[in-house]
Amino acid sequence: MKQSQLFIPTMKENPADADCASHRYLYRAGFIRQNAAGIYSYLPLGHKVLQKIQAIIREEMNRTGAQELLMPAIQPAELWHETGRWDVYGPELMRLKDRHGRDFALGATHEELITSLTRDFLNSYKKLPMTLYQIQAKYRDERRPRFGLLRGREFLMKDAYSFHSDEVTLDQSYETMFQAYKNIFNRCGLDFRAVIADSGAMGGKDTHEFMALADVGEDTIAFSSGSEYAANIEMASVMDTVSPTNEPVQVLDTGDYDRSDEKEIHVSFFTTGSTYVAVYSRGQDEVNDVKVKNLLEADVLDDVDASELTFDVLNPGDVEVLADQGLKAVVNGFIAGTNGEVQHYNVNPERDLGIESFSDVRMIQEGDPSPDGHGTIQFAQGIEIGQVFKLGTKYSEAMGAEFLDENGKSKPLKMGCYGIGVSRTLSAVAEQYHDDDGLKWPVSIAPFHVHVIAVNPKKMEQMELAESIYKDLDKQGHEVLLDDRKERAGVKFADADLIGCPVRVTVGKRAAEGIVEVKIRATGESFESQASEVIHTIAQYLN
Ligand code: ATP
Ligand code: MG
Repeated sequence: MKQSQLFIPTMKENPADADCASHRYLYRAGFIRQNAAGIYSYLPLGHKVLQKIQAIIREEMNRTGAQELLMPAIQPAELWHETGRWDVYGPELMRLKDRHGRDFALGATHEELITSLTRDFLNSYKKLPMTLYQIQAKYRDERRPRFGLLRGREFLMKDAYSFHSDEVTLDQSYETMFQAYKNIFNRCGLDFRAVIADSGAMGGKDTHEFMALADVGEDTIAFSSGSEYAANIEMASVMDTVSPTNEPVQVLDTGDYDRSDEKEIHVSFFTTGSTYVAVYSRGQDEVNDVKVKNLLEADVLDDVDASELTFDVLNPGDVEVLADQGLKAVVNGFIAGTNGEVQHYNVNPERDLGIESFSDVRMIQEGDPSPDGHGTIQFAQGIEIGQVFKLGTKYSEAMGAEFLDENGKSKPLKMGCYGIGVSRTLSAVAEQYHDDDGLKWPVSIAPFHVHVIAVNPKKMEQMELAESIYKDLDKQGHEVLLDDRKERAGVKFADADLIGCPVRVTVGKRAAEGIVEVKIRATGESFESQASEVIHTIAQYLN
């Protein structure tokens, strides 16, 4: 393609509202433009990359046996009423009315719609399992759309849904999708971790999120230096190895001694709406409310300020008491009375605080041993690029999606759902592949493989040599962008660095001798080559 004829509006300056590297460079290199907060156009270069990511996704999805379909973006409210989500989804769901006053939503996700499509057909165990997927724009009226494509209000998602008669095939599909996701993100060149995540509000059980490592990521993940173990920080289990102490247990006291930090016992308060909960932990540890919530099997868990509650540590009354396992190591600790005045010393959790069992309810910390026993824990920021989820029967029960089993008994379908943020993946790659000059695309999803620059297109020998290299590479199946614009060399080089094609071929002063310069964008390495050899050299590099 000839650059003089393409819509690639590059910019020298950073747009004022661009809040991360991928946003800045995708904008400046002419891949995207914003039309409203969180709503973007993909310009030809951006669209090309998006198409390549989609092609990889389709290949890997089709390989698993999943079938592609396309559902509407506009969904009738009735379906959302069936599951109750019309009322609980909140302001993120974009709603609209048709001319007759009927309610609709712009699809934020498609569990309701796919279940309504399949419930009549998938009515026998003989037709199961089955997996369907689509690639489509999703709409979420995010409170803070930001970071360019990373958090948009209209964004491209691949969503897949699987239907099962039994747990075994659900587990198999989950595993198959998990593997397919790894292939997809590997092929896109991403450095990522599959992390154990919280199934929380979606109401299922197993779930993993795929996280691209990047400082701009909004999630903190805990991963092992010595194994594949990785979890969202709230979900990371803690192995507290308690070493027994020989310290003699002393009598409980109320007094005025020196405090030591290791000896402090801390208490935090929560409410599930119906019960108050007190959670004891070591002073240096932070209580993890997701673990507390999951331990209590509660739907909600809110913080309670200690001043709202009259609570006597020695006499908890109706308040449910939990304790972190790390406390087992504390002998003769101290605890401040919740009203501030009274302090207790020589507190021994089991004896004095009414603690019957210890649980893992604290946040993991960097340097803790990995829960799988291999390596130690490190933290990193991650961008959630995908998620796999065992939904179970939440949607099929609510929507009457049932099948007949081998014994003619009617049962709700078991479901899995699997999402990839396609446009977010594009940004995540840009976040990992750039330098101060611009983007550095991995070959697999680069908009063009080779950028051929005719330094001075008015010079016949330069333009002819550039065109012949362009044609030869094209014949070999490489995608080539030919910069034939009548611009200064500096402008052309700056644009080439911004756009970030993996290989650049500069046809300049030595064109008459048949010599060109080759530059590898990823490494910055450059060398001169005979034009007759350059095709071969590039082909080798690209493969
Ligand atoms: P987040 O926690 O980032 O809001 P989510 O968990 O609500 O995302 P899912 O419902 O799991 O998102 O959607 C599937 C995938 O769609 C996510 O893994 C993510 O890659 C992508 N995605 C979700 N919200 C957005 C958004 N606002 N902009 C771009 N991609 C998004
Ligand atoms: Mg998610």
